[in-house]
Amino acid sequence: MANNALFSLIPKVDEILSVDKINDYIEKLPRTLVVEAIREEINKLRKDLLQNENIYLENNPIDRAKLIDDIIANIEKKSEFNLKKVINATGVVLHTNLGRAILNKEVMENVLQAASNYSTLEYNIKSGERGSRYSHIEDILTKLTGAEAAMVVNNNAAAVFLVLGTIAKDKEVIISRGQLVEIGGSFRIPDVMEQSGAKLVEIGTTNKTHLEDYKKAITEDTGALLKVHTSNYKIMGFAKEVELLDLVDLGKKQNIPIIEDIGSGTLIDFSKYGIEKEPTVQESIRAGVDIVTFSGDKLMGGPQAGIIVGKKKFIDLMKKNPITRAFRVDKLTISALEATLRFYLEESNAVKNIATLKMLTTPFEELEKKADRLIKILNLESKNYSLEKFDGFSQVGGGSLPLVELPTMLIGIKSYKISTNKLEFLLRHYRIPIITRINDNKIILDVRTIKEEDFSIISEAINGILNF
Ligand SMILES: *Cc1c(COP(=O)(O)O)cnc(C)c1O
Repeated sequence: MANNALFSLIPKVDEILSVDKINDYIEKLPRTLVVEAIREEINKLRKDLLQNENIYLENNPIDRAKLIDDIIANIEKKSEFNLKKVINATGVVLHTNLGRAILNKEVMENVLQAASNYSTLEYNIKSGERGSRYSHIEDILTKLTGAEAAMVVNNNAAAVFLVLGTIAKDKEVIISRGQLVEIGGSFRIPDVMEQSGAKLVEIGTTNKTHLEDYKKAITEDTGALLKVHTSNYKIMGFAKEVELLDLVDLGKKQNIPIIEDIGSGTLIDFSKYGIEKEPTVQESIRAGVDIVTFSGDKLMGGPQAGIIVGKKKFIDLMKKNPITRAFRVDKLTISALEATLRFYLEESNAVKNIATLKMLTTPFEELEKKADRLIKILNLESKNYSLEKFDGFSQVGGGSLPLVELPTMLIGIKSYKISTNKLEFLLRHYRIPIITRINDNKIILDVRTIKEEDFSIISEAINGILNF
């Protein structure tokens, strides 16, 4: 059959729209979305016909039922959100690509209230006048950290930028070469400093910096001494950084502010829970650091935010800096942050309730039991795959605690039906994507980061893929 004759057999858009199964979608979804899906599938079919003309039977060149099914699949795909839930089976707790810290229900309830109602965002109930959006978290942040004042911006990169641009614009900022860090997503401390208007003065060497180096670099133009926590790498061996207390002492003597970018922003001492110690915000404030900045959605386990705590005179300057407006957080962030911080008023509550902390501190014995429960739900009878349980390690992620290995229980799935790569692909493309890793030709599931309520989805996926 000639192309023209073949094409004329393809149903027209209007014809397809009148098919009941398709028409149902018009009620629920925007008509344009449905029409777009129909056009795309028709065009695909045309291309197909052009390329494979000969394989179509003369008397039935077009499989109408298949076309309708393809269109429905396309409509379903288009109606899904682009930003959607995935199941993190990687064991990386603060998985940067999967959204870093996740918020718990209590926090989300507070966000829902703030989002769907008018709120006290910038309204002072007592006076009936305009209030400050920072007031909602300032008290609790100062209480928790011991700082005089606090504020919050969009993320820690913005916080560092704002601090340097406010305190050290057109001045020199001294930093050790061992701390010129790059964080994922091309956040480079030297670039941020340059953009903020501060002038970078690098001192020491990659592995060693001494107090003398700081002393020698101080001039009339020095605006601040900056310490950056090397949260995503460690220099081992013949290495030395100046102690924070010594740096603070030097700053006091010379009347130069000390700024610390502590990165991961821990408010609790992790060594109590068998994890390597990260410097806490409270310790830095107690040591006398003038300004500390950190992320809200790393180890603190809150929403994305850059938190700035320290001396009131500096924080006040930042609040007045016009650029703060460009970095300001919205009510959703503030409500999530306030709810998260409230858990920290009682450390045991924080560890029990904040998802990130809970996942990081789950004892191995509990993970083992959790793995057993998942195995029980997965179908052990199948001939198409085998399951095994073995010890391994989870990672903290998010550029935090890079060397820490958290003992965990892994489940390995070996498929006898399809390749491991194919299984990984199909799990990743599942209705709710399941993100796994491959090791030793097996799919690896780390139960640490999997929610118990998602076990049934994993079981449904594995059985759907391997047991039909
Ligand atoms: C993560 C990190 C940043 C960037 O923080 P964001 O909240 O991702 O903007 C800056 N400095 C350090 C030391 C970090 O660890």
